[in-house]
Amino acid sequence: MGRLFGTNGVRGVFGELLTPDFVFKLSASIAHYFAGKEILVGTDTRYTRDVLRHAVFSGLSSVGARFYDAGIAPTPAHQYAVRHYGLDGGIVITASHNPPPYNGIKLLGKNGDEIPHSEEDKVEEIYFEEKFKFAEVPSTCKGKLDVITPYISTITHLVDVDSIRQADFKIAIDPACGAACYTAPLLAKTLGVKAYLINAQPDGHFPSRDPEPLRENLTELGSFIKSLNLDFGIAFDGDADRSIFLDEKGEVIWGDRSGAILAKHVLAKHGKGTLVVGVSASTLVETVVKEMGGDVVWTKVGSVIITEKINELVEKGRFAFGLEENGGFFYTPMHPTRDGCMSLALMLECLAKNKKKLSELDRLLPSRWMLKTKVEVKDKDRNEIIEELAEIYANLKHDRIDGIRVWLNEDEWFLVRPSGTEPLIRIFAESSSPEKASTILNEIKKLVEQLVRNG
Ligand code: MG
Repeated sequence: MGRLFGTNGVRGVFGELLTPDFVFKLSASIAHYFAGKEILVGTDTRYTRDVLRHAVFSGLSSVGARFYDAGIAPTPAHQYAVRHYGLDGGIVITASHNPPPYNGIKLLGKNGDEIPHSEEDKVEEIYFEEKFKFAEVPSTCKGKLDVITPYISTITHLVDVDSIRQADFKIAIDPACGAACYTAPLLAKTLGVKAYLINAQPDGHFPSRDPEPLRENLTELGSFIKSLNLDFGIAFDGDADRSIFLDEKGEVIWGDRSGAILAKHVLAKHGKGTLVVGVSASTLVETVVKEMGGDVVWTKVGSVIITEKINELVEKGRFAFGLEENGGFFYTPMHPTRDGCMSLALMLECLAKNKKKLSELDRLLPSRWMLKTKVEVKDKDRNEIIEELAEIYANLKHDRIDGIRVWLNEDEWFLVRPSGTEPLIRIFAESSSPEKASTILNEIKKLVEQLVRNG
């Protein structure tokens, strides 16, 4: 992890880390990194988007960069536009699901993918060594780009629109007042789906609900679905790369379960394939994918890492796609990146083809319960704690993909990993019942707390 860049770009509170002069200097460094190539600059709906966009433009212009203004759109629409318009990269001003005072800078590479952490290190080096040089004649923005139309059009071409239309779906869409306001209702309309909107006026203060689609933030959407007797609902995060589904009863189907439903559908659609998945997801995805004749590759948690792994497999000629338990689904025929609207189109296609309700598809999955918690770790090296756990559980089946994941038996496991963004240790436990998962979680939490105290 770099000094500025975290799991998903540079993040911070406006006026603290993220001041206009910091963003100016960072953008000048990014311009130096892209050296003469063409990039786009896009934002989500956050209320600090304009002040930061002007700082980005100023930094880029000062170094003579060639850049386009992509306006407000979901992060995956900006990502797709880099590919669609044949650009060399991009800057997305977004803090994804973080609270309203936050914003951030996400860097995109040539094909619109988030650039690998090793490339971010190069930008940091330019920044800290102030390697960029001001141009004698500053450049100006080369114009505006429509990133929404090609994005919606391509998603539409990747699904069976006739089947979706015939199913006559009625769904609820909750963009959280974020970037999905610009795309999800339009996508539904294009696919002949009747959409009922909630929290769908763009507003960077996120006045109606928190931009993170956590279970506790979706009760209003759940009641909305039930009261209108809709087929299902979808809730996006602030920049609309993640989405969480709710069934026709208004119940949340968490990201690894909806991801498993989509994975089954994708494998039925494409034949054999490899699912790349972060280790914090339920192992039910592996059961489901293997039943369909597919393979699973587990990776460290983090979308950048999943994208890198998908690309590596695709280069070897394999069909690969990915998921994250928090509602990220990576459908490679669109791009090897998380995309909330693509997930919506696939879910519509999946339900239309299976002719089943979302709750029915959920009931076909193995019954698994995963619970999670966290422990604050301030004065101790978090990796030391992981090593201590590795010694304690050396005799049990385990892997060290990210932190340590230990199997207590065939069905029960726990994962302890250091957070990539905060001074925390995250703990996950899974079992076939919520009571058993809770017992394991509490036991491991107690043990971790004890290791932290022992310093
Ligand atoms: Mg996001």
